[in-house]
Formats: sequence, structure tokens, C-alpha cells
Amino acid sequence: MRIGDYVTMDRTLERVGDGYVGKAMDDRIGVFVMLEALRAMERHEATIHAAATSQEEVGLRGATASGSALEPTVVVALDITIAMDIPGGGGENTITELGKGAAIKIMDSSLICNPKLIEHFRQIAEREGISHQMEILPQGGTDAGGVQRLHGGIPSITLSIPCRYVHTPNEMVNASDVQACIDLLARYLEEAHTGDYTL
Ligand SMILES: [Zn+2]
Repeated sequence: MRIGDYVTMDRTLERVGDGYVGKAMDDRIGVFVMLEALRAMERHEATIHAAATSQEEVGLRGATASGSALEPTVVVALDITIAMDIPGGGGENTITELGKGAAIKIMDSSLICNPKLIEHFRQIAEREGISHQMEILPQGGTDAGGVQRLHGGIPSITLSIPCRYVHTPNEMVNASDVQACIDLLARYLEEAHTGDYTL
């Protein structure tokens, strides 16, 4: 063992009731949602770049590098968010709850999402009957914040998967929330080319 060596928790993925528990749901579940949405998507006109980034937790670095290279016209980040439906939560501290659907982010400490993009996601969820909740996260950021301010500003949003026990080896997500995120992203990608997010 030398200074600088990587270590990791030895932890398997478990199905627990309606959910999945494992390490690094943040952000393996985001990659899963991305891949499954691409599989589920039907006709689309937008050019889609799917990027799995590194070093989000230490300063949104991979997202900034990817966004700088790809020059996207719209950014949708995928990340977990805090489900505070546990002791200590309640009221304004709840943020999101497991089993209440895909979380459409309004803001976190890294970005304020483009309001027209928020509205587009919300309209699709309502029209398609996809279970969803609106998310305001007082602390913590996502990759969208790393790309939003590049190239003169890019309309950005984050679609979040509610997660309990964030940043522990027992991160827990709900299977129906994961499916709601896949459905919402797939439907968005099919009509992403119709969006006008100019403010
Ligand atoms: Zn995290």
C-alpha cells in the first residue's frame, strides 16, 4: 500500500423491497438512466451526445471538459438527489421522497436551471403521466452547473433520481423512480429539437 493508492468499499448491489441498495448509486444510476433512455427512445431529430463524466464530486471537472469539447446547445445532467423522507426530514427539509417519481431540478448550489427547460420537462411529465416531483437542493451541485456557463451560457437542467443515505456505501433508490427518469428522458430526447429556451 502506498500513499495515493485508490481504495473502495467491498459492496454488492441488493434488491430491498421496491428499491436497490449499493455503493456509488451516485452516480452509476445516472449512467444506467442515460443508457436505458437511449434504448427506450424512438424517433428523434436532435444530435445527442451521451457523456459519462469523471470527477463530478471534486468540482464538476469532467463535465466542464466534455462541455467545452462538445459545445452542446442544451445540457441535461443526470444525478441522484437527496431523499429526506427519513427522520430529520419533513417540510422544507424533505427535498425529494423515494417513490414519488423523477425529480425535475429547479436549482442547486451549482446552477439555476433554465426556466423554459424546466417547463418543457414538466409539460412532458404531465402529458405522459410520468410520476415526478420538483426539486430544490440547497447544497450540492451537479454536472449541469459545470457546463451551463461555458460558450457564453448554455440552457441546462438536471434530471435527478431520489436517493437515501447519499455518500454512504448503502445508497438507496426506488425502482419506479428510476423507471420514471428513463421514461421522462426518453420522451424529452424525442422532442428535444422542438425546444426554444431563449430567455
Ligand atoms: Zn454525490
